[in-house]
Amino acid sequence: MARLTSGQKETPLLEIKDLQTGFKIGKDYYNAVEKVSFRVDRRKIVGIVGESGCGKSVMSLSVMQLLPKGIGKVRGGEINFEGRDLSKLSEREMNKIRGKDISMIFQEPMTALNPVFTIGYQLEEVLLNHENITKKEARLKGIALLKSVGIPRPEKIVDEYPHQLSGGMRQRVMISMAIACQPKLLIADEPTTALDVTVQAQILELLKDIQEVNDMSIIMITHDLGVVAEICDEVIVMYAGKIVERTDVETLFESPKHPYTQLLMDAIPKMDERKEKLATIDGLVPSIKQMPQVGCRFANRCPKAMPECTVITPQLEEDEANHEVACLLYKNSTPMERVGQR
Ligand code: SF4
Repeated sequence: MARLTSGQKETPLLEIKDLQTGFKIGKDYYNAVEKVSFRVDRRKIVGIVGESGCGKSVMSLSVMQLLPKGIGKVRGGEINFEGRDLSKLSEREMNKIRGKDISMIFQEPMTALNPVFTIGYQLEEVLLNHENITKKEARLKGIALLKSVGIPRPEKIVDEYPHQLSGGMRQRVMISMAIACQPKLLIADEPTTALDVTVQAQILELLKDIQEVNDMSIIMITHDLGVVAEICDEVIVMYAGKIVERTDVETLFESPKHPYTQLLMDAIPKMDERKEKLATIDGLVPSIKQMPQVGCRFANRCPKAMPECTVITPQLEEDEANHEVACLLYKNSTPMERVGQR
């Protein structure tokens, strides 16, 4: 790779521009992701955080081109991966990229692992699909991969079935399959949600190690800011299909700006506070059929909402260097005086 001069920015591995993804309900499409733009640089871990229904998973399925056929559709924008717009590729071209250059792990490995085939068979399938190797070589490589993700007795585990393993072990197997072809980008969709706290920490550490060793980038999709704090470099907060805040992890935890992010922060358990109950955010994310088309989508749940919040749509804009926020409380969102800024 050509050396960059100072001040020159490396081309991002993934650059999403104005992405709109919709779902067909009846005769009409409704957008679950609305004009979302962001970049993932090489060797970085970007966290995408928000409650269920915020559009995080839809965005990752759009990148992978795995939206349910005939129902979900990328309706606008670009998904540039190393300069190629994935939304314009044929299914055949996309099949070459999936699993090889970009791979994905899910919350529940049982949905991705096939219960009727052995772990070894499934690993070999991935390797044989993308690499020019023999079955014997694939088996040996499979065993080495299982070992690399901390699976004990990998020579035995290759001949076992997914149901014979614990949740944490199954997630390790999924990770070994996802990294089998050394992808440049790994999308991890709530990879630790179904696991207990100790196993969660081990899986996050494993992902971090793998990212460093393989020079990979990771998109970490989660509802848990604790996970973001643990391993991410940058963070994108999504609400109702839009990005509401974007910055690096240190800045986000030091000075969260968007009221939604602030409420998510309040919901993180703190070691030094004994609370009977964790803070929750009242109300629900609007369904895609009921998304407000004008004004702030968070207005009906926002403790700082102002009258203009339902009539002016806040845009994602830089409020400070490398800190973007979409909220009318901040200076660039509206020419009006800021009201009630904390
Ligand atoms: Fe709250 Fe208004 Fe900011 Fe939306 S724009 S987050 S309603 S203050």
